Amino acid sequence: MDYDVIIIGAGVTGCAVARELSRYRLRIAVLDKNWDIGEGTSKANSGIVHAGFDAMPGSLKAKLNVAGSQMMPSLAKALGIPFMQNGSLVVALSKDDRLHLDELFERGLKNGVKGLRILSRNEALEMEPNLSDKTAGALFAPTGGIICPFRLTSAMAESACINGVTFLLRTNVSSVSRTDEGFRLEAIRYDEFDPKGDRDITLSSSCVINAAGLYADRFHNMMSEDKLTITPRKGEYCLLDVTAGNHVGRTVFRMPSALGKGILVSPTIHGNLLVGPTATDLADKEGTFTTASGLAAVNAPEASAVKNLPMKEVITSFAGLRPCGDRGDFVIGEIPGQPGFIDVAAIESPGLSASPAIGVMVADIVAGILKPEHNPDFVGELAPLTYMKLLGAEEQQALTKKDPAYGNVICRCASVSEGEILETIRRPLGARTLDAVKRRTGANMGRCQGGFCYPKVMEILSRELGIPMDKITKKGRGSEILKGRIKE
Ligand SMILES: Cc1cc2nc3c(=O)[nH]c(=O)nc-3n(C[C@H](O)[C@H](O)[C@H](O)COP(=O)(O)OP(=O)(O)OC[C@H]3O[C@@H](n4cnc5c(N)ncnc54)[C@H](O)[C@@H]3O)c2cc1C
Repeated sequence: MDYDVIIIGAGVTGCAVARELSRYRLRIAVLDKNWDIGEGTSKANSGIVHAGFDAMPGSLKAKLNVAGSQMMPSLAKALGIPFMQNGSLVVALSKDDRLHLDELFERGLKNGVKGLRILSRNEALEMEPNLSDKTAGALFAPTGGIICPFRLTSAMAESACINGVTFLLRTNVSSVSRTDEGFRLEAIRYDEFDPKGDRDITLSSSCVINAAGLYADRFHNMMSEDKLTITPRKGEYCLLDVTAGNHVGRTVFRMPSALGKGILVSPTIHGNLLVGPTATDLADKEGTFTTASGLAAVNAPEASAVKNLPMKEVITSFAGLRPCGDRGDFVIGEIPGQPGFIDVAAIESPGLSASPAIGVMVADIVAGILKPEHNPDFVGELAPLTYMKLLGAEEQQALTKKDPAYGNVICRCASVSEGEILETIRRPLGARTLDAVKRRTGANMGRCQGGFCYPKVMEILSRELGIPMDKITKKGRGSEILKGRIKE
């Protein structure tokens, strides 16, 4: 056997499972087809740690959302992940909505959400003066939070990595089949730069964790007669500049509907304002492009429960795809009749919030099967990344004196220094693409969206990794920035 456990998918759930499993003495590999971790749904979402009042009591979504959100403050501290418990409001905009607030409140109590309160119109407006004039009341959840979804994923991956988990990126799994001892996985391992270097590989393991996001139905259906369908449900967003970041202090939802939680308005952990998402079912699992109609829906004045949104401050738009299963709940557990094959499928919202608890649940299932010893060398903490803009002047000066790279500002919009970029390249599972640097440091994420700093970040990547400039990519082979030389 090559490994005790192979995890397909390095999204937030695969990485959470990997980290929890690294508490045991096991040989574990995480396989992902992309060039960086968290390139699937985990990179394009609202970044909200939901309190847990929305999901139906008794569902896995409800149980794991509440447990995950309760774990988040200590996990964020241990791994140095930017996180804030800013609280959330569900705003009733009519008498009908107001009646539904009571239902949500009761549901939240049943799910075990702490501190829920129903606010009158005046109390809600006092808390958030930019709420709609139609506000009739609101449900306040003080435990709601905002997190950096990229760093949550990459920090859990780094933590797993330093505790002995192997990450095989650029590895596209094509099939899983049962053998006498366990499972055989066939995959294509992509060369970093040259398609001619791609090669077929075969790996074996005792257990397989299917955390393949939008494609988890494919692997489930290879192993089960009870077929699963995962439909991509697109959510489109507008991201506003940090100048608009204080328009609201809490995450503001409208009343949820059958399709989801509606258009929300929220500060992000990076200080921007996020407006979205829409909810449209698609056939295309790669359809992460934005559309004129989707963005028009986000921009419509009555779309959210917040008034006077400064939409002229939009700096970018993006879309993410929710992996919606046909069973109405997360699909987590061993497939009947296939011991050792464990689904972590249909992890739509609130998957980010639930991820720490999903990690624990799945690690417990694996421990029940393989009965492993504990890993006595497990390290729960991770050295935090430096964020210069969050440091005081004295700390900034001391760091710059020690290493002048921290005084060399590369991204002017988001105030990111060369030192911070070098850190992310040099860490375990270090950044090798522009998007990987962006997601770990915030460089390229500000008002100019990389217009000024792209070439500088490319130079740093090229120098540090020994890769020629024309091989530096946005997100892997095929996304090179330079297409050729115009002068020799
Ligand atoms: C619009 C939107 C808003 C959301 N907002 C929130 C929110 O605010 N709060 C919240 O809690 N949740 C939210 N979610 C849900 C959350 O983002 C997801 O639940 C979570 O990211 C799912 O993570 P995952 O690891 O299961 O899937 P993914 O992140 O998609 O990871 C799956 C991985 O599997 C890999 N993979 C697939 N096929 C193969 C293969 N053949 N071989 C190798 N690798 C493969 C992919 O490359 C990918 O990296 C939102 C989702 C969307 C789309």
